[in-house]
Amino acid sequence: MFEEAVKEVEKSKLIYVVAHINPDGDAIGSTFAIYHALKELDKDVHVIMPSYSHVFDFLPGIENRVDNIKEDECDLLICTDASDYTRLAISKEDFDKAKKVIMIDHHQISRPYGDYRFIDDLKSSASEITFHFIKALGIEFTSDIATLLYTGIMTDTGSFNYNNTSAATLRVAAELVEYGAKYIEVCKRLNDTMKEAKLRLVAKTVDNMESFFDGKLRFSYVSYEDINKLGINDEESEGMTNYLRAIEGCEVAVYVRGRSDGTLKASLRSNGKVDISKIAIEFGGGGHPRAAGYTLVEDLETEKEKLIKAVGEMI
Ligand code: 5GP
Ligand code: MN
Repeated sequence: MFEEAVKEVEKSKLIYVVAHINPDGDAIGSTFAIYHALKELDKDVHVIMPSYSHVFDFLPGIENRVDNIKEDECDLLICTDASDYTRLAISKEDFDKAKKVIMIDHHQISRPYGDYRFIDDLKSSASEITFHFIKALGIEFTSDIATLLYTGIMTDTGSFNYNNTSAATLRVAAELVEYGAKYIEVCKRLNDTMKEAKLRLVAKTVDNMESFFDGKLRFSYVSYEDINKLGINDEESEGMTNYLRAIEGCEVAVYVRGRSDGTLKASLRSNGKVDISKIAIEFGGGGHPRAAGYTLVEDLETEKEKLIKAVGEMI
């Protein structure tokens, strides 16, 4: 399945790798795993990642990230975890510098792009698909590659708890552990360590929470001003929705946060009854049935009312 893409990699010298803006564990894990893998093949490879949450600082190679493509063109651009090229952390100008593009993604609804497309919504994560891609390249998995892919799979599956975790996912994870993935450190750093400011943001989120439809919808908004006061950046301010969703009786949780660029971002989570990707798409975003998001276009009150109505019709 990867034959043509593998040939393309083999003949490319200068390769860039990019994932979506606000990169999560899957975006970071898949891109930097490819980075290390292509270094093994002596490629001139770079990961474009303008910003990320510092909780990922421990991941191998992340300090080598770059902001853009500095050359006039590149042989190959590998894009992961972005269902739509407009979500990539790269300008249109830089995207157009690539002679060939590989797309690796696991979203259900997508606007496919690129010359070689590996899209499988039955896979847990872009990292799980990347595992098979790196295998096809014939590269031996180093401990660094294994740790990165494990991170991507662990984070996108809620530590192997969400229903995107298949037996195949667990087999890939097991293999990564055999290759030396530092799974204890990954869990400690990402699941079991929090800045004090982040815990204070949890408190703020809960404080601001509103409840609709007998608690089936939980909604909270935290302004950028409050986030900034806590000393938290855009990437670090996400992840609050899961706390709301965990409340007994909750079907849909929505967390809206202000960002440094003045926009408002909605994060949606569902416990399974409501396919929130449909709602997110209606509001100009996208995602998965249980995890989706969008950037608000109108003011908070207008959007909130529309959202409550939309959720109410599905709940
Ligand atoms: P989060 O709530 O963690 O920011 O996003 C959850 C999921 O929703 C992401 O994995 C991504 O698939 C999707 N998502 C979030 N924001 C957007 C957006 O603005 N546009 C699109 N297309 N998808 C989004
Ligand atoms: Mn993903």
